[in-house]
Amino acid sequence: MKSFDKILTAIDFSENSDYAFEYALMLAQECNAELTILHVINEPVDLRGFYVPHISFEQLEKEIEEGANKMMEKFCSTKLGNFTNFKTAIVSGIPYEEIIREAKDSGASLIVLGTHGRTGLDHLIFGSTAERVVRSATCPVLTIRLPAEQ
Ligand code: AMP
Repeated sequence: MKSFDKILTAIDFSENSDYAFEYALMLAQECNAELTILHVINEPVDLRGFYVPHISFEQLEKEIEEGANKMMEKFCSTKLGNFTNFKTAIVSGIPYEEIIREAKDSGASLIVLGTHGRTGLDHLIFGSTAERVVRSATCPVLTIRLPAEQ
């Protein structure tokens, strides 16, 4: 029988993903699952050799990585309570691609994401990470909207 033994949740430190995370944690506890918490650093436009000196670009990347690590540490220390069956991952790239990659690599049986549920022009301009993941994932995906947005 299938079970949710490995749950992947992707967080961007927004109110939406905080809210979805509560469901991911509850499900991990209920299903006795391992929880992977992924954050993707949106790849900055590669300006190397253009008008940003090489050294400052490297420095910028390092600072962004350090900032992401600190945010993840703070997130885990405030949100996980006494839940210990988790691991974290921070990678750079395009969020939906990295979420799919991590789901495959970790053998996730469920992906939990927040979503803004954008429609119309907003959807056209900003797109939807959650929608792209739903389209490409090979395992079930749970998307959760903030109640105020419904
Ligand atoms: P949407 O509002 O449909 O674009 O989906 C937003 C959701 O995608 C967030 O609540 C997160 O679960 C996930 N997400 C978006 N950006 C990132 C990111 N940079 N790192 C990890 N997860 C992300």
